[in-house]
Amino acid sequence: MFAIISDLHANLAALTAVLHDIDQRGVKEVFCLGDIVGYGPCPKQCLDLIIERKIVSIMGNHDHAVFYEPTNFNTGAERASYWTRAELDAETDPEKRRNRWAFLGRLPARLQMGNILLVHGSPRRPVTEYLFPDDIYTNTAKISANFERVEHLCFVGHTHVPGVFLEDPDFYSVEELDNVYPISKDERAIINVGSVGQPRDQDTRSSYVVVSEEKIEFIRVEYDIEATAKLIMANANLDDFEAMRLREGK
Ligand code: ZN
Repeated sequence: MFAIISDLHANLAALTAVLHDIDQRGVKEVFCLGDIVGYGPCPKQCLDLIIERKIVSIMGNHDHAVFYEPTNFNTGAERASYWTRAELDAETDPEKRRNRWAFLGRLPARLQMGNILLVHGSPRRPVTEYLFPDDIYTNTAKISANFERVEHLCFVGHTHVPGVFLEDPDFYSVEELDNVYPISKDERAIINVGSVGQPRDQDTRSSYVVVSEEKIEFIRVEYDIEATAKLIMANANLDDFEAMRLREGK
């Protein structure tokens, strides 16, 4: 049994609440699908928590933006990534500074564990491609090209919208699944675990999954949204919009 978290976006209140929930369930192993940083006010603390707990992580487009360069980002996201970079550089403890940068620079774009694939975006373009629920109607070629690269299960984040894609093509929201996807050995599925730090499915609670032999359970956790929203509003380099979307879950 293991947990998969994604898209923390430097939201420490959310990450702390989710890790607490995982601990309370007695789940020992945790994986992270990336976007540890970006948009949010607490990049250093979130990186430290992930590093301390030795959580194996994948590179997200926002981690990539901070370490390399932002590509195709809107102004707000780009400003946030430059601020994050400056914040990491401003660390006065040289060992902490080095560790965080080394961790970001070593993040892999994909991780294959047996017949399970972990990526941030999609199997085809692991760092940047979005798999949207609407793609099952508007871009079936994209869905099938991605399923070609899936052996059994693939876990993704990136859109911040949890749910399950099937080959048909089809998409099931967490409501339709009643929060549980029963794993079938001869079915391929791409599972979006949702976002810890910036949910966008109109549910403001943090999202993550717990995976066992027979099922994937989608879990929502309440956290102190205002604590993070206040830090965003007080930070001149972060858009107030990023606080508003936390309050609305979009
Ligand atoms: Zn993200």
